[in-house]
Amino acid sequence: MSTKTADFTIIGGGIAGLATAIALHQKGFQAELFEAAPEIRAVGAGISLAPNAALALRKLGLEETIAREGRLLPGMSIRQANGRVITRADGRQIAQRYGAAHYAIHRAALHQALLAKLPGTPMATGKRAIGIRRESGVAVARFEDGSEHEARALILADGIHSPTRQQLMTGSTSRYAGYTCWRAVIEYDGPLIEEATETWGPSGRFGIVPLKGRQVYWFACITSPADNARYKRFTTEDLYAQFQGYHTPIPEIIRQTPDAALLWNDIIDLKPIHQFAFGNIVLTGDAAHATTPNMGQGACQALEDAVVLADEAARCSSPEEAFRQFELRRMERAHYVVKRSWSIGRIAQAQNPLLGALRNALFRLAPSSAAEKPLKYLYEVDF
Ligand SMILES: Cc1cc2nc3c(=O)[nH]c(=O)nc-3n(C[C@H](O)[C@H](O)[C@H](O)COP(=O)(O)OP(=O)(O)OC[C@H]3O[C@@H](n4cnc5c(N)ncnc54)[C@H](O)[C@@H]3O)c2cc1C
Repeated sequence: MSTKTADFTIIGGGIAGLATAIALHQKGFQAELFEAAPEIRAVGAGISLAPNAALALRKLGLEETIAREGRLLPGMSIRQANGRVITRADGRQIAQRYGAAHYAIHRAALHQALLAKLPGTPMATGKRAIGIRRESGVAVARFEDGSEHEARALILADGIHSPTRQQLMTGSTSRYAGYTCWRAVIEYDGPLIEEATETWGPSGRFGIVPLKGRQVYWFACITSPADNARYKRFTTEDLYAQFQGYHTPIPEIIRQTPDAALLWNDIIDLKPIHQFAFGNIVLTGDAAHATTPNMGQGACQALEDAVVLADEAARCSSPEEAFRQFELRRMERAHYVVKRSWSIGRIAQAQNPLLGALRNALFRLAPSSAAEKPLKYLYEVDF
């Protein structure tokens, strides 16, 4: 990869980096990408993509692929441990109201779809950025292997732990949300699951999201101190013991999960930072505004970032101006998600039975307008 040939250089080949490359390419720019891992591939299990993400994917020419490779969610409910519904959102009504549907997809399929849109984009793997500096109008990225690369404009999409962000903003490290999470995707052998559910109970939170065909993505969150040695050793048998009293099909889904399919990590986010643009360098995706997963919005926001960033690049006379405008358009919305998602996590994780029962009753009695307002804000996205 030669020096300074591309209009934009992207660090990180996750959802944010790949989507940004696609969006820039659509606007006629040349982008190049550097990824730390030996190959560009998804890490994780399933992912849900809300209507605002579907609108961004439509702009990227990917909505049909996502609909084909994933699953349209006809409904999403929050339940208590015995299965009783606390609240339910009708996916079809949402799709009608906001002009886009709610999808769920295997992360590997999403990554594949993004990569397929980038056949001509130079991508270098095994390139972990460890530092950046600005030098007479160019941004220089320094890599772990000792090499350097000069860029006209640098887009940092290297995730929540972004070392380049931490260089630009000392102290912008991740924070632990207070709960830990297991995830898996399985081929579920049982009655077809069509709707997504999240169950709040005294043993923790359990989510089920149907993917393509018989695939089911599930997650379980338990309140815990960070890096808990006991949970590090947890197997599906332990999780079965934890959630066996929950409604069907939760115990059965855990039973059908091999230990090898289990992913475990503590839930973290990035406390809102107040600068995304630094001259000809910009932060995007999780590197700029990583959120807890309680609203299922992290990747959705990264996709929005991509569309807005390319839009501003096409509209503005310089990358510096485009990055400033990007920050102006994106910061409030991204921070809204981070803060709201953090609060939802606190509420949803209440494992005290009394508090949990009170919370469930309050949610059940809340007027539908209370649930609609945030959806309207999120889904009526203006690109
Ligand atoms: C449990 C869980 C569930 C979630 N569920 C959802 C959901 O349902 N819906 C949703 O919208 N979001 C969800 N999210 C959030 C979503 O996964 C993230 O917001 C999204 O993946 C962010 O993409 P990104 O490209 O910004 O960062 P990342 O996915 O972290 O990608 C960063 C990329 O940069 C590379 N990289 C890292 N460091 C360097 C470096 N120094 N140099 C070069 N490359 C580097 C990495 O290898 C990676 O490829 C969830 C998150 C979690 C943890």
